[in-house]
Amino acid sequence: MQLALSAEDQKFREEMRTFFTTEVSEDIRRTVIEGRELTKEQIVESQQTLNGAGLAVPHWPTEWGGRDWSDLQRHIWNEEMQRAGVPTPLAFNASMIGPVLAQFASQEMKERFLPRTANLDIWWSQGFSEPDAGSDLASLRTTAVRDGDDWVVNGQKTWTTLGQYGDWIFTLVRTDPDVKKQAGISMLLIDMTTPGLTVRPIELIDGGHEVNEVWFDDVRVPGENLVGELNSGWTIAKFLLGNERVGVAPVGTTKRVLARAKSLAGDRAAEPLTAARIADLENDLLALELTALRVVANSTDGEPHPASSVLKLRGTELQQAVSELMVDLAGPASIASGADGSSALEEWTHHTTPTYLNLRKASIYGGSNEIQRQIIARTILGL
Ligand SMILES: Cc1cc2nc3c(=O)[nH]c(=O)nc-3n(C[C@H](O)[C@H](O)[C@H](O)COP(=O)(O)OP(=O)(O)OC[C@H]3O[C@@H](n4cnc5c(N)ncnc54)[C@H](O)[C@@H]3O)c2cc1C
Repeated sequence: MQLALSAEDQKFREEMRTFFTTEVSEDIRRTVIEGRELTKEQIVESQQTLNGAGLAVPHWPTEWGGRDWSDLQRHIWNEEMQRAGVPTPLAFNASMIGPVLAQFASQEMKERFLPRTANLDIWWSQGFSEPDAGSDLASLRTTAVRDGDDWVVNGQKTWTTLGQYGDWIFTLVRTDPDVKKQAGISMLLIDMTTPGLTVRPIELIDGGHEVNEVWFDDVRVPGENLVGELNSGWTIAKFLLGNERVGVAPVGTTKRVLARAKSLAGDRAAEPLTAARIADLENDLLALELTALRVVANSTDGEPHPASSVLKLRGTELQQAVSELMVDLAGPASIASGADGSSALEEWTHHTTPTYLNLRKASIYGGSNEIQRQIIARTILGL
């Protein structure tokens, strides 16, 4: 396999690198690189900077802001963005609902939502999972019943990431209880300020507030907010979840964190056991990167290649392994997550354990790794 870039692609890489390292605020990039939490305003500012330069949604159809780049260019864009510590465009907008609307929505709905989605003028939340409907998503129980021109929605969603910032939520709802469970689901877009909709925080193991419960109590949703055909929600969800898996292997970010681990390790990076561990991780990341390129190159008509499940599985395993290396390098200091500015411990050490704990989630969301193994067994290995 040819690994060297052509002169043209090399030039493209330089352009991306220059843009990301000079046009996106240094403060935002430093926050990402040092593993601190971004504010909503920083995430919005960063995406709007990218969108202003046509770099927020290059994979969308060109009429809605896409760039018609080659698969390799898209890969380079993504990798350079992550390497520079630029927050990747909000996945709910850029990778999930945007491509869904471009593919399934009416022209009117596209015009209404796509430009504001690309520019993060609307912050989208994902309302799929429910208690007892995570891996078995088709069992979802939130109902939408037609009443005049409206839908009336009742039920509960859970694990809604950053729902506290959400303006709108794309939801899967049961619109026909009397058919096979996959056949009675639809997708509705719901304004999160609608009366009857409540967002409640869930506290995570690292002490942060990242996920929420969303409750619907007689929430009235205009009939026109239905995406695509009535009861076609399962098809739309499968399309969306496949895209979610493609974006979920953060190769560039994991490479950056590993390089940082090496530099923070100092002389210890040369100790045989640590050196071997780092070399193994670097090799595994290279293999993952090649798989990512293969997946991108084999996606047709916006349908992801089934190997996207391999990306999800290995990408999250490596992300977790590198966070574990950081904890080991920090040693006992890693336990001091509550240390403040007066502590003599180096600041990076305080972030390692919370980050390690937080990243346990990566093998659960976007379809748990056990489920990915089943997809790989069935669709790739034919078992
Ligand atoms: C941090 C975080 C953020 C999330 N954000 C969102 C969001 O914004 N919006 C949203 O809609 N959802 C979100 N999710 C939900 C996520 O998609 C689900 O957690 C996930 O699909 C798993 O479902 P579950 O939690 O119900 O676990 P369950 O499905 O109950 O699974 C529990 C365990 O059993 C295993 N298991 C289940 N079925 C099988 C099987 N058939 N074979 C083998 N093993 C099996 C699972 O792998 C898992 O280990 C988020 C989850 C997390 C943790």
